[in-house]
Amino acid sequence: MEKLADSATDLRVVIIGAGMAGILASIKMTDAGYHNHVIYEKSDQLGGTWRDNTYPGITCDVPAHGYTYSFEPNPDWSQTFAPGPEIKQYFERVADKYDVRKKICFNESVNYCAFENEGWTIRTTKGREERADIVIAATGVLHIPSTPKIDGLERFKGSSFHSARWDHSIDLAGKKVGVIGTGSTAIQITSAIVDKVEKFSLFQRTAQWVMPIENQIYSDKDKSDFKDSEKRGVVVEQIHADFDNFSNGVIDAESASLAALADECLRNLEEGVRDKELREKLRPDYRAGCKRLIFSTDFYESIQRDNANLITSGIVTVEENGIRTEDGEFHELDVLVVATGFKADAFIRPATVLGRDGIDLDDAWSDYPSAYMSVSIPKFPNFFMLNGPNSPVGNFSLIQIAENQLDYLLQLMNEIRLGNCSQISATRNATEAFEERRIEATKKTVWNTGCKSWYLDKNGIPSSWPWSRQQFFDEMERPELEAFERI
Ligand code: NAP
Repeated sequence: MEKLADSATDLRVVIIGAGMAGILASIKMTDAGYHNHVIYEKSDQLGGTWRDNTYPGITCDVPAHGYTYSFEPNPDWSQTFAPGPEIKQYFERVADKYDVRKKICFNESVNYCAFENEGWTIRTTKGREERADIVIAATGVLHIPSTPKIDGLERFKGSSFHSARWDHSIDLAGKKVGVIGTGSTAIQITSAIVDKVEKFSLFQRTAQWVMPIENQIYSDKDKSDFKDSEKRGVVVEQIHADFDNFSNGVIDAESASLAALADECLRNLEEGVRDKELREKLRPDYRAGCKRLIFSTDFYESIQRDNANLITSGIVTVEENGIRTEDGEFHELDVLVVATGFKADAFIRPATVLGRDGIDLDDAWSDYPSAYMSVSIPKFPNFFMLNGPNSPVGNFSLIQIAENQLDYLLQLMNEIRLGNCSQISATRNATEAFEERRIEATKKTVWNTGCKSWYLDKNGIPSSWPWSRQQFFDEMERPELEAFERI
């Protein structure tokens, strides 16, 4: 990689969001001499998704040693798949070590960004207005809960909340608890609470393929071994090999690696669910990997508990004391958890973002969110995204993705810093050519084989990176500067 300018720079950088990617951005900015940067964080704490999601059983289904900043290994991970609070603590620790907190304005959301007079005007919910040379949107992929219109939901007299807004004041012991949804979140909640509640009801609209995993609890000896970079490296390499295998499978619906993943899921279902009727209810009618795979040690065991009910008849209405389904049954509930996912196409929105000549991001994205190489949008100069549209969100660790994207955008920022230009954004031609190439490649992926999922945009086209992990690294290594308008 070309050597980046190594002296400090006065360029003002505004980072939006203090989650995994925003913390990373701040560390990398400081490292590259962009000391004049700030992070605006909507909440009173950092941690992004690991702050918002505190539901029982929350665990990262990416192995912990693969969900770690490359420059900040953590030998102390407690298990293969780390629980959410431990991950949040990791980010807090890293933020403290690199003195990131002093850069964060908490409880202050950016609600307006406009490119005018050759720079960005930023406004926040605290009424602050400031100017920035560069904006980095590190707002996360899944941060705005989606609560569908379910008839009567507002009539429910018990406690009801979205999974990402868990109400910890409610004691679930002895309660009749219902969960709507069967995504990764609902499945983790199921295993965590089924044994605590009197009666557990899971409202399934679509069955899921479940990949069995083993969650090894690391001993003191393991943790001590992980302090040795060589020993830790062996584990990390294995995780990367598994990512390669997984991502090569999902991007090619006819691949042997996908067939092997599907066999494993099928075997899990056949061997894991004893009752034939229940097994058939849990059998998906689409290909494994089409929706995001569920990774679980114990979901099938949990849903077979005596107090567990899998309800596959559609929800007709929510009443004061429960849910009525299409088969006429009434399911009495004290607590209703709405685990119905997120608005996956929001990114930085609902903030208003106006590019050159006042072009509104909502209009630029009226068809679907897109960005050249996931980081840059035509006519939005010096505005960069981390884990933006079409990032490999369904393929491998988001941390690895954000690290690569940051190195890429630092190279773009270097063009400004070196005085080669003062504004840089992807050209329309390059963006359209990238989208054409990307959409063509999605046709081969398993996401395109006939299921509904949050991976699909509103035109039904998979929005994730449709190539291999290696290709991502290769293409992100160095920006093709001809693809950028530089003024
Ligand atoms: P999700 O995957 O979008 O699942 C939402 C669930 O709600 C689906 O089962 C969906 O059914 C159901 N649903 C939506 N509207 C409904 C309605 N009107 N009536 C009945 N059911 C309805 O959301 P999520 O489980 O929160 O997970 C989102 C993503 O977050 C995951 O895919 C994953 O990327 C990430 N996540 C990761 C982890 C981790 O361990 N790393 C853990 C949790 C979440 P249909 O399938 O029929 O649409």
